[in-house]
Amino acid sequence: MSSAKKVGFYTLGCKLNFSETSTIAREFEAGGFVRARQGETADVYVVNSCSVTEHADKKCRNIVRRIVRTNPDAIVAVTGCYAQLRPQDLAAIDGVDLVIGNNDKGSIYERVSALGAKRKASVHTCEAGELTNFFAAFSTGDRTRSFLKVQDGCNYHCSYCTIPLARGASRNLPIADLAAEAQRIAAQGQREIVLTGINTGDFGRTTGEPFIDLLRALDRVEGIDRYRISSIEPNLLTDEVIAFTAASKRFQSHFHIPIQSGSDRILALMRRRYNTAQFADRIAAVRRAVPDVFLGIDVIVGFPGETDEDFADTYRFLERLAPAFLHVFPYSARPDTPAAGFPNRVPPPVAERRAAELGALSERLHRAFYEKQVGTQARVLWESTRRNGYMYGYTGNYVKVRTPFDRALINTITPVKLTATDGEEVMDAAILSRE
Ligand code: SF4
Repeated sequence: MSSAKKVGFYTLGCKLNFSETSTIAREFEAGGFVRARQGETADVYVVNSCSVTEHADKKCRNIVRRIVRTNPDAIVAVTGCYAQLRPQDLAAIDGVDLVIGNNDKGSIYERVSALGAKRKASVHTCEAGELTNFFAAFSTGDRTRSFLKVQDGCNYHCSYCTIPLARGASRNLPIADLAAEAQRIAAQGQREIVLTGINTGDFGRTTGEPFIDLLRALDRVEGIDRYRISSIEPNLLTDEVIAFTAASKRFQSHFHIPIQSGSDRILALMRRRYNTAQFADRIAAVRRAVPDVFLGIDVIVGFPGETDEDFADTYRFLERLAPAFLHVFPYSARPDTPAAGFPNRVPPPVAERRAAELGALSERLHRAFYEKQVGTQARVLWESTRRNGYMYGYTGNYVKVRTPFDRALINTITPVKLTATDGEEVMDAAILSRE
């Protein structure tokens, strides 16, 4: 039996956290730790927290309490945005050893190793203005796809958002370093990279290198067949970026663009950097260049002051735009943000009803997008998950497909014909040829 110490990880929130946890896990593994499997007891737990909503804070506290209750002897370290913003909430939980802010994420393994035994929680955080470190990260948990962190922080200060306080100003690694990271990912056999950041399109604040040059450099990395941009602000989705991704064989027909509201009045209150006409113009430009594009759109409902009319504008606007998917978030007031003090708060049941209406619209649009793909041909990167005799993968334009499980197909890209949709979230695909 192995006597190696075990480490367990919990990740909340965004893909950036996910890529950072994966990198922290590799540091523990290099130090001789073994990753605990789901349900297995560990000697050390690392919780990478999120603070984008009140619910995320609560979920983190619940996870931490559960860990210390069921594993009273384990070392418990909490990091991430909630740890950065409210370290005392976490340090007050009996059994927590370390609370580590976002600037010190890269030192978690060292700090845990130096700890030795359990002790009263020590807190390692800094002021928002001192959040200047860049913790380079990419994920390795998946055999086919990696989330590569290309940018961190944000300078936009939208009125509802706590992220600039939790992650600091916009910053990035040099393109040459990121191209080298992409080469390392390729050398491990992963074939798809998702470019991940807090405000990904704002890349270049540190080095002065434009985002388009990052795309060009990554496009030249041998061994990576696919790229996706996790999310891009509409004002940064330039004609140049659209034209480049449309012409590239590697950048996929997939964009995720936050709108947050379809009411110009609410967009102004949110301090977003565009209005609905400008947003519609960007969507039209994408559709002209990439007709089969999968468009995902983020939207917030129940922002302070959002009237029934504002919501109706949002609904109609999104219905007209007809993206393939909507990510709907009920507004959550975050401490120390301007919107938390705005008048005319929307009662939670009203916000929930609006979220449900947009959720139903999203289901309808998603179904329509899938139905349009029936009978078309596409290329699919096959993943390793096996469920009910099937394996799964995604087309370039992010349609989830399945085919009978065949181990030899894992991590290969094959042309397929999309044969049928059950109207839900997966399409049947017939393989046309193999790699
Ligand atoms: S762009 Fe706005 S919503 Fe996005 S992270 Fe920056 S401040 Fe927050």
